[in-house]
Amino acid sequence: SKTSVCRRSLVVLMNESEGSKSYKYLVLGGGNAAGYVARALVEKGVDKSEAAIVSREEVAPYERPALSKAFLFADPPARLPGFHTCVGGGGDRQAPEWYEENGIDLNLNEEIVVADLNGKKIKSKSGAEFGFEKLIVATGCAPIKLSKLEGADLKGIHYLRENADALELYDSLHAHKGEEVLIVGGGYIGMEVAAAAAIVGCKPKLIFPEEHMMSRLFFPAMAKKYEAFYKEKGVEILKDGYLCEGFAGDGEGNLAGVKVAKDGKQEVIPGKLCVIGVGARPNAQLFSDQLETELGGIKVNGKFESSVKDVYAIGDVASFPLKKYNRMTRMEHVAHARQSAAHAVDALFDSATADYDYLPYFYSRVFDLSWQFFGDSVGEPVLIGDIPKMSAFWIENGQVNGVFVEGPTAEDTETMRAIASKRPTVDVDELSALSDPDEALKL
Ligand code: FAD
Ligand code: NDP
Repeated sequence: SKTSVCRRSLVVLMNESEGSKSYKYLVLGGGNAAGYVARALVEKGVDKSEAAIVSREEVAPYERPALSKAFLFADPPARLPGFHTCVGGGGDRQAPEWYEENGIDLNLNEEIVVADLNGKKIKSKSGAEFGFEKLIVATGCAPIKLSKLEGADLKGIHYLRENADALELYDSLHAHKGEEVLIVGGGYIGMEVAAAAAIVGCKPKLIFPEEHMMSRLFFPAMAKKYEAFYKEKGVEILKDGYLCEGFAGDGEGNLAGVKVAKDGKQEVIPGKLCVIGVGARPNAQLFSDQLETELGGIKVNGKFESSVKDVYAIGDVASFPLKKYNRMTRMEHVAHARQSAAHAVDALFDSATADYDYLPYFYSRVFDLSWQFFGDSVGEPVLIGDIPKMSAFWIENGQVNGVFVEGPTAEDTETMRAIASKRPTVDVDELSALSDPDEALKL
């Protein structure tokens, strides 16, 4: 209508006055959660130019999990625009045109370096200023860098977080086919990149200090199965005390090996290519003197409201109440990024929105394997079956807290979700005596 056209022109005019842009809804960060906020805002019917994303990445929001999987080894490899959000959550593929068509401003290549939350504006490295009525912080995490270690600047050392990192890593892996690839860290990145490197035809060596891989979730009996599988696939595992202490060079600025210490003895593991996955840290520093933090992230309530009015935080950067288990947590997983985005937008539009009640869900895919976990990995673990099909349960005082399946069917996924939600009581001895992982899921 005429009125809405006038209103739109007024909004745009206001937005661009005095060289700065101003929005009703401003999303800081252009990653996984941001893409889902954009989708939710469009579903709520925001007017054109009322909402915007500001991101330091050069591409529109995408499904980050692809970067350590089909991006590295598939033939042809996954590339943008193929995996823009929200394809992973069963939604539209929001390529840049989608933002244009839906009137959401995409401000890419803009790294925010100053935040003035009381003044309701943020400023980028390039000098651009963005005002807001409501700010949704979705800055995610950054990889922990081993930058203080000797040789940390050598050419050939990679981290993996963003599309640009993955493009470089792809080229390096494919340029080093048949050669050693040293992967530091036995967590998610370590496991997924080691698998990708093996598929590409490199010789991966997985180096980590813990007793077994994925130590935050796997227990020894479970890790043993995966480690045996990795060895069969040609991945060498250097674990249990193997701490990366630095990097050796070739005298010309290139990596020649990773320096490790094991039982007090130093050793150099030779290799020209190294990928580091030793954890991630929330990008919350910008706000450290303005917002309350907890567990390293921005503290929010069940509606994703931070300690400052009109400022919200979602995804990896938010520390939120995990209602089911009555504790604060931070989740670095895509299901939470998606769900927290949708929930925060609901809460923005309706203050009567119930508090977020998240059921933790993790998954990974390596080689031709794939696992899922629902719930809380607290309690005595019980493992039934073997790769390619096994189930596991974490039991505390007879009650199931968490459930894991390697090789789940779609039906198993629903069963797992129900088990983790209802937390049934089981007889541990009876469960442990089972040998069929499917039978065990019929709790
Ligand atoms: P991100 O997606 O990290 O987005 C943050 C965005 O903010 C980025 O665009 C960043 O550039 C931008 N930003 C940060 N600071 C600034 C600033 N100052 N100015 C401007 N922009 C800024 N999870 C799973 O559950 N399953 C998986 O299989 C899986 N695989 C993964 C594989 C890889 C390689 C990685 C790195 C992560 C994976 N994850 C996986 C985790 C999942 O991707 C994250 O939980 C999810 O991306 C979090 O979304 P987010 O929007 O909070 O953060
Ligand atoms: P993780 O926390 O999963 O794993 C880091 C691992 O590195 C830990 O096992 C850690 O041991 C070990 N480590 C720490 N310091 C050293 C060292 N000096 N030498 C050798 N090993 C060391 O983090 P990632 O880096 O794997 O993942 C980064 C982010 O990406 C996370 O947010 C993760 O959730 C996300 N991601 C998620 C995926 C998924 O959900 N499928 C896939 C890929 C990434 P310790 O525990 O003792 O510190």
